Amino acid sequence: MPIIILSVFSLFLGLIINIVASRIPKGEEDVSWVWPFCGACSRKLTLLEMLVPVNFFIHKGKCKKCSSKVFVRPFQITLFTLIVSISLYLKFGLTIQFFAFLLLMSILIAVFFIDMDYYIIPDDLLLAGLGGALIVFFYNLFYEFPIFMDRAWWNPLVGGALVSIVLFIIGIIGLFIYKTDAMGMGDVKLFVPIGIFLGWRMVVVSFILSAIIGSLISIVFMIFKGKKLKEAIPFGPAIVLGTFTTILFGIDILNWYLQFNSY
Ligand SMILES: [Zn+2]
Repeated sequence: MPIIILSVFSLFLGLIINIVASRIPKGEEDVSWVWPFCGACSRKLTLLEMLVPVNFFIHKGKCKKCSSKVFVRPFQITLFTLIVSISLYLKFGLTIQFFAFLLLMSILIAVFFIDMDYYIIPDDLLLAGLGGALIVFFYNLFYEFPIFMDRAWWNPLVGGALVSIVLFIIGIIGLFIYKTDAMGMGDVKLFVPIGIFLGWRMVVVSFILSAIIGSLISIVFMIFKGKKLKEAIPFGPAIVLGTFTTILFGIDILNWYLQFNSY
C-alpha cells in the first residue's frame, strides 16, 4: 500500500522536476526558467501531458500538434524519479534520511538532465541543495543522521569541503598545465551540498564511484559514438549516479573495502 501512494506521489514529484529541468541556457553558468514546451513546435505542454506515463501510453509519447516524439525526456525524468523514491523507501522506510535524500536526489535528477543537455549546472539548483544541506546540518546537531557514521557536529562541514577543495586544486593545476578548464567548476560546486548531505566518509565514496562511472561512460562514448577523449563529456550525470549508489550502498561498500584491506 505505501508503495502505491509513493508511486502516485512520485508522478507529481516527477512533474515538478520536469518543470525545473525544462529550461534554456542563458549564459555560461546560468539558465532561464521556462515552461516545458515541445522542442519541435514550441507548443507549451499542459499539466496533464506532463503526468507523463499517462500521456506516454495514450499518445505514444508524441506531440498532439506536430507528432514529434517530445515526451521521451519527460518520461525518462518521471521514471528516474519513480525508481529513486521507491528505492529510497525500501532502503530507509519513512525516516528523516528518506526525506533528506529524496530532496537531494530530486535536485540531482534535474542536474542530471540539464547537465546532459546543456553542459551546465545552474547556480540556483546548487543554492536549493545548500538550503536542504543546512537543514541536515542543524538536524545532526540534535539527532543522529546515520549515514554520517558518527555524531561529530563538524562531519557534514568537512564533507562539504573535502572533495570540492581537492577538485578545485586539481582544476587549478589543470588550468596551468592544459590551459583549459578541465574540471568543470559546476562539478566542483556540486560536491559542496552533496558532501554536507553525505558526511565526509560517504562523499569520498561518492567521488570515487562518480569517477569510475564517469570513466565508463567516457569509454562507451568513445567506442560507440566516436568521441575523442578531449571532447567534453558532462561529468554531472556520473556524479548523480555515483551519489545515488552511495546513498543506497555506500556504507556496505566502505565496510566491504575495510574488511578486504584489514589483515
Ligand atoms: Zn510539437
